[in-house]
Amino acid sequence: MELYGKVAELIKEKGNIVAFTGAGISVESGIPAFRGAQGLWEKYDPAEYADIRSFVREPAKVWSMLREMTRLIFDAKPSPAHLALGALEKVGLLNAVVTQNVDGLHQQGGNTNVIEYHGNSRYLVCLKCHGRVPFTEEALTALPYPTCHKCREPLKPDGVFFGEQIPPSAIERAHEAVQRCEIMMIIGTSGVVYPAAEIPFLAASRGAAVVEINVSPTPFTSSLSPYFLESSASLVLPGILDHLLKVKK
Ligand code: ZN
Repeated sequence: MELYGKVAELIKEKGNIVAFTGAGISVESGIPAFRGAQGLWEKYDPAEYADIRSFVREPAKVWSMLREMTRLIFDAKPSPAHLALGALEKVGLLNAVVTQNVDGLHQQGGNTNVIEYHGNSRYLVCLKCHGRVPFTEEALTALPYPTCHKCREPLKPDGVFFGEQIPPSAIERAHEAVQRCEIMMIIGTSGVVYPAAEIPFLAASRGAAVVEINVSPTPFTSSLSPYFLESSASLVLPGILDHLLKVKK
């Protein structure tokens, strides 16, 4: 509890938070981490189902996994952690969220400056004409897969697959946000996926204070020596917000 107060003071003093989030923040929204015990990668080999080459070769097969993944995303609601980040932006303390998630829950939680490092699977793209459309219920039930209205090619969720590039605009915006940030808040991510995991290191090298909220220690904990809050973000973030609103008065 004392650490909450310390972090709240730090936030009050410095402001300008950039949050760096991963799968952990969406677990309480009902989306199990892909890599975890209940994750989709236990059932589907990502080399076979999440690689762009597999998608191009066998879209119908990959879509059998995508339907299951998308159902989880469509049914998910923002967690208390997502909502707390939305509130931090509203009071002017949070500048940007850089997320590795593709579930669009930060926007639903009230954040407007969301930098999606791995794309957003609530949209569909055509690999041929690059058209991008919202991912609807109708598309989700289309068999064997939804197709582009223009070229009849199979549509692909706009999340980044293995073998695809990180969207250059996301890299650019993330680097820009990190240049200015005073506090880098790592939330629900173990930092094993590169190049995304460089972001906190970049912020730290620019002099940002690092706050980490994770259920267990990660490579960030030992290398960045952050303020480490070892707990679920859905408990910690609303707690910090409460402190902050009290401190503010
Ligand atoms: Zn097309």
